Amino acid sequence: MRIEFWGAAQEVTGACFLLECGGYKVLVDCGMIQGRRRDELRNREPFPFDPATIDAVVLTHAHIDHSGRLPLLVKAGFRGKILTHRASRDLCEILLRDAAHLAAQDAELDNRKRARKGLPPVEPLFTTADVERTLQHLRALEYGERRQILPGIAIRLRDAGHILGSAIVEVWLSEGGLTRKLVFSGDLGHRGTPMLRDPELIDAADLVILESTYGDREHRSWESTWAEMAEIFTETRAGRGNILIPAFAVGRTQELLYSFHRHFDQWGLGRWQIFLDSPMAIQATQVYRRHDDLFDREASAMLARGEDPLKLPNLHLTPEPEDSMALNRIRAGAIIIAGSGMCEGGRIRHHFKHNIWREETQVLIVGFQAEGTLGRRLVDGARRIRLWGETMKVRAKIHTIGGLSAHAGQQGLFDWYANFDGRPPVCLVHGEPTAMETLARRLQDELTAEVLQPRLGAVLDLSQPLRKLTLQYPGERH
Ligand code: ZN
Repeated sequence: MRIEFWGAAQEVTGACFLLECGGYKVLVDCGMIQGRRRDELRNREPFPFDPATIDAVVLTHAHIDHSGRLPLLVKAGFRGKILTHRASRDLCEILLRDAAHLAAQDAELDNRKRARKGLPPVEPLFTTADVERTLQHLRALEYGERRQILPGIAIRLRDAGHILGSAIVEVWLSEGGLTRKLVFSGDLGHRGTPMLRDPELIDAADLVILESTYGDREHRSWESTWAEMAEIFTETRAGRGNILIPAFAVGRTQELLYSFHRHFDQWGLGRWQIFLDSPMAIQATQVYRRHDDLFDREASAMLARGEDPLKLPNLHLTPEPEDSMALNRIRAGAIIIAGSGMCEGGRIRHHFKHNIWREETQVLIVGFQAEGTLGRRLVDGARRIRLWGETMKVRAKIHTIGGLSAHAGQQGLFDWYANFDGRPPVCLVHGEPTAMETLARRLQDELTAEVLQPRLGAVLDLSQPLRKLTLQYPGERH
């Protein structure tokens, strides 16, 4: 009985954990490695295990850094079931199909350069056909139902409050009369996130695998975030310019629509025309609606009153490219929500081209912007940006709204762990080294927790007493 760490070990993306029990193998998540090009190339490397020998996968949520290598797993011979929440299954259809589309674009771009260098072409990481085959393996679960997935292996999903369908996974492993309970936090939501329920608290575990993305940071309070948004919308004169909001299609967009619905009068949103300019975000919003029984108490109360919490009287959907292009002619009074979230691609770049050089434009940055992205350059105050080979002056006002995060801050992570009885040992994952180190110190100092920070390839023998644990690195020579 053991766990092996094959992803999100001392880094944020590429989640992948292998459990072995009674001769069966189960993966928890199989995510894409994202970030710098040299990191992303690692997605092309073979898996460190034989995918054909994996009996099942449990998927915490649909985000690509948790689900994105599933098509590669299937391509490499995996034949089992992929168990996930029903909303995650629906979101995976959108996100994995989009990932195949991006992979095709990447390969095409690469191949144009390679051809000029006389190099042979590369294949896309995976194709739409690989994704369609992968989707056939998905099986939908509900929160709270304990399911025996293999002899000696049972799981239960609990609401993680991170995006719709996101789950904390409880796993029971039984072998030779010994049972161990592991709890994977997955990505843990930020308490108070609009529309979603707060992460569920769990009391019992023999080992906790905890994300640590914001292990060294705290978010701004929701009150001050709403106050900031209110100020921008009420003080910007709709008659002058447009407001552009780059946003991720799944999660952030729906939270924004919901916040707009909730604060519609207070923020004076009736003076604007609001455009959701992203086919993917439009589809994701439909998935949110289809699973509205998962909404939190406030949003459920709206539903009970007959209100659609994702509807606005002046919201226009523009899935077709021509509708999107028509927005270029609007000089004032439009709020445009478009992807991509970090401005690296998608329609937001076209809206920048038509608006960013105008001083009456406002840009609202509502999500995390990674190093090296266009979004990050804007946040850092770039005076000029380049789009399609053309240099543009940034005269628009850039606002950064820091509080809208889909991840728990340090205190949220701390409190969630502190709720476990008996302080089980905890492995920190999904974090940069400083974030993990900071959280580890707090958990050790204030809760006397036993904290491990596994590196890639680490193995824990779970049949040993789970105190004073040591990570093994069988792949490394000494
Ligand atoms: Zn996530």
